Amino acid sequence: MSVLLRAEGLWKSFSDREVLRGIDLTLAKHEVIALIGASGSGKSTLLRCLNLLEPIDDGRIMLGEEDISDPRVDANAVRARFGAVFQSYNLFPHLSVLDNVTLASRVVRRVPKRQAEERALALLERIGLADKASEHPDRLSGGQQQRAAIVRAIATEPEVLFLDEITSALDPELVGEVLELVRSLAEDGATILMATHEMAFARDVAHRVVFLDEGRIAEEGPPAEVFGAPREERTRAFLTRFL
Ligand code: ADP
Ligand code: MG
Repeated sequence: MSVLLRAEGLWKSFSDREVLRGIDLTLAKHEVIALIGASGSGKSTLLRCLNLLEPIDDGRIMLGEEDISDPRVDANAVRARFGAVFQSYNLFPHLSVLDNVTLASRVVRRVPKRQAEERALALLERIGLADKASEHPDRLSGGQQQRAAIVRAIATEPEVLFLDEITSALDPELVGEVLELVRSLAEDGATILMATHEMAFARDVAHRVVFLDEGRIAEEGPPAEVFGAPREERTRAFLTRFL
């Protein structure tokens, strides 16, 4: 498998608190990685650093052959190659669902309006939200909003999709529909790095599980190994919380 994204020795502090302490991580094309770990272990910070939303203190981030952590790099141009969905507040409240989904393609990719809208409607159709295209986000359920946010993130055909606990703010009955969409993207070959507390989903869909503990990767491997026979005591202690 060819490595698409590679973090090498990432360090990140907020004032005197070291949040990432030497992270080495690769993400191959078409790979799905589930990033697990306790609250505060640094999952969101890692995703934000990889997304160039947060500067790193030390290390390097390679996207293909390009060092995207080089300060001379155009961060917006790099981010245009990524898609990201966070826990909540992903959609612009003042825009219709359709405009939310087409905005990045039209502004960043300069896709003509009609073409962007045709593609957006096809994507919304696929997730059963075509009839909500002209609604504002507040008329949608939380699950529908997150699915629309995912569709917005993939509308530009990103090389990597970053998902940060996208179901954490949802009522339990709405979690499934969002995870099913992620599963279908994974089956279509998307490259995904997702921070999640949905262990059953991670076990089922991820190719690799990475366990973050206090800013370090404490353990990583195929889900069957990390969940079925964790090598590290810290991993075991963390996973027992989900039993
Ligand atoms: P996780 O996503 O695993 O819960 P985070 O990456 O959000 O962990 O946070 C890791 C640590 O970094 C926490 O102690 C958090 O308080 C701290 N942190 C995160 N973002 C900031 C920030 N912008 N300023 C200061 N501290 C932060
Ligand atoms: Mg987080």
